Amino acid sequence: MADRMQTGPVLILGEEAQRTSGRDAREMNVTAGRAVAEAVRTTLGPRGMDKMLVDSMGDVVVTNDGVTILTEMDIEHPAATMVVEAAETQEDETGDGTTTAVILAGDLLRRAEELLEQGVHPTTVARGYRQASREASRVLESAAHPVEESGLLVEIAQTAMTGKGAEAAKQALSEIVVQAVRAVRDDESDDIDLSNVTVETVVGGAISGSELVEGVVVDKQRVNDDMPWHVEDATIALVDTPIEVQETEADTAVSVTDPDQLQEFLDREEAQLREMVDRIVDSGANVVVCQKGIDDLAQHFLAQEGILAVRRAKQSDVNHLARATDGRVVSSLDDIDPDDLGHAGLVAERDVAGDTRIFVEGCDNPRSVTLLLRGGTEHVVEEVERAVHDSLGVVRVALLDGRVLPGGGAPETALALALREYADGVGGREQLAVEAFADAMEAIPRTLAENAGVSPVDGITELRSRHDAGEESAGMNAETGDVVDMLDAGVVEPLRVKTQAIQSATDVAELLLRIDDVISAGDLGGSEDEAGAPEMGGMGGMGGMGGMM
Ligand code: ADP
Ligand code: MG
Repeated sequence: MADRMQTGPVLILGEEAQRTSGRDAREMNVTAGRAVAEAVRTTLGPRGMDKMLVDSMGDVVVTNDGVTILTEMDIEHPAATMVVEAAETQEDETGDGTTTAVILAGDLLRRAEELLEQGVHPTTVARGYRQASREASRVLESAAHPVEESGLLVEIAQTAMTGKGAEAAKQALSEIVVQAVRAVRDDESDDIDLSNVTVETVVGGAISGSELVEGVVVDKQRVNDDMPWHVEDATIALVDTPIEVQETEADTAVSVTDPDQLQEFLDREEAQLREMVDRIVDSGANVVVCQKGIDDLAQHFLAQEGILAVRRAKQSDVNHLARATDGRVVSSLDDIDPDDLGHAGLVAERDVAGDTRIFVEGCDNPRSVTLLLRGGTEHVVEEVERAVHDSLGVVRVALLDGRVLPGGGAPETALALALREYADGVGGREQLAVEAFADAMEAIPRTLAENAGVSPVDGITELRSRHDAGEESAGMNAETGDVVDMLDAGVVEPLRVKTQAIQSATDVAELLLRIDDVISAGDLGGSEDEAGAPEMGGMGGMGGMGGMM
C-alpha cells in the first residue's frame, strides 16, 4: 500500500490530452460562442447581406440563411458547435429565427462576461438568465395576437422571406406557400407535415414563374411516344411491380430446336404481357405510374389502349401520388381494383425549361402538393428554395399555434422594457443578470438598425420612447431606419419563433457558463499556449472566412 503511494502522481489523462480550467475555460468558450454570433450578425433582417461559402470541393453557396451559413462553415470549436446546435434546434422547432437565436446567444454571453469580470459567479448569471427567460416567455405570450384572417398568414410568409433571394417575387411566392401549407393540413390529427409539400426547383425562367401544383410533378417522361401526352379526368394506377414477364427460372437458357418452338415461346410471353395490360385496362385506369420497368411490348399495348405510362418512378413520388390522388399502390396486377385508382383533373407531359416532366394536377383534395420553384441560375433557385423553406415553416407554426407578434425588433424592445421593470423585484445579484438579459434583447433592433445603415443609438432611443408611450408594435423599418408600427407595415412573425429563439439562446448561454473545465483528448486545433484567448484557427473553416465578414 505505502509502496504504491510513493510511485508518484496518478495520471488519468492520456499524454495528448489538454486541459483548460476555471476562468480560462469559460473565457475560451464565451469567446468562441460570440465569434459564431459575429459571423452571422450582418445577415439579420431585410437589409442583411449574403455570404458566399466555398467548401473544400470548390462548391459555392450564396445565402442569407443563418443555419445554412453555420452548418456550411465547418465549425470545429466545441463551444461554437453548441451555438450552432442551438440554431439547428431553432430551425427544427420553427423553421425560422436562427440568426436571431444566435445573435441573442452572443449578446447574452458578452454581457455575462462583463458580469463575471465584476465578480458575479457564473451560476448566479445562469440562474438570473433562466429566470429572465421564463418571464420573457410570459410577456410574449400575453402580447401575442390571434391569427384571424388569412391575409396575416401571407404577411407571415412574406416576413420570413424578406431579404432573401426570393425578395423579387415574395408576394406571389407567399400566396402559394400559404396555399401549400393549408392543403397538407391534416384535420384529424390537427398537424401539418411539411414533408407532404414537395419543393422542386427548376433552373431557368423567372422566380415569378414559380407555381403551386395541386398534385405531384414526376421528373419522367412517357415511356412511349405513341402514348397520349395528356389525359384529362385521369384515373391513375400506381404500381410497384414490373410490367414485364417474370423469369421464373432465372438464368435458364431456353434452348430452341426449331422455329415453331421459338414462335410458341414468344407467343407465350406476348400473351402474358397482354394479360397484364388487360388487367390495367379492365380496372379503368388511363394512366399508369410504375415504380419498376415496363416491357417494350407492354408499352406498345398500353399505347394502343390510349394509356399514358411512366416507368421507374421514384418511390417517394409514388407515395406522394397516393396521397395527392387518393389512390393505393398495388404490388400485384392480379388484384388491381378500381378502388385502388387515384384521380386527377389532368395528367400531362410538360416542358419545363427544356426538361420534360409529368404533371399530375388538379387533384380534388390533394394531401400532397408540389411547389415548383424557378429562378435564373442554380444559386438563385437554391436561395429561393431556402427562403420558401423558412416561409413554409412559419406559416405552419402560425396555423398550429394561431398566435403572432409584430417583427422588426418590436417584441424585443417591449421585452427589454418589461424585464428591466421585472428586475427591480428580483433583488440580489441575480438582478444584475436579469438586467443584462433585458439589455441583450435589444441586440435585435440594434442589429436591424446597423444593417439598415442607420444609427443604432438614435433608433433604440426612439424605439424605447415609443414603447414607453404604449406603442407595443413599434419596430424598426429596416429599409429606412424609421420607427413604424410593424403590424401596419405587415411585418409579423409567429409567437413560437420568438419564444423559441429566446429559449435556445438562453439554453446555450447557460450551458457554456456552467462549464469550468475543458478536457480534450487531442489537439483542439488552437494552440495550448493561447488558451483563454482562442483564435479563429480553433474553429475550422472560420479562419478562411475572415475576409468576407
Ligand atoms: P432569422 O434567421 O433570425 O429569421 P432574418 O434575416 O430572417 O433572420 O431576419 C429576421 C428579422 O428581420 C426579424 O426580427 C424580423 O422581424 C425582421 N424583419 C423582417 N422583415 C422586416 C421588415 N420588412 N422590416 C423590419 N424588420 C423586418
Ligand atoms: Mg428569417
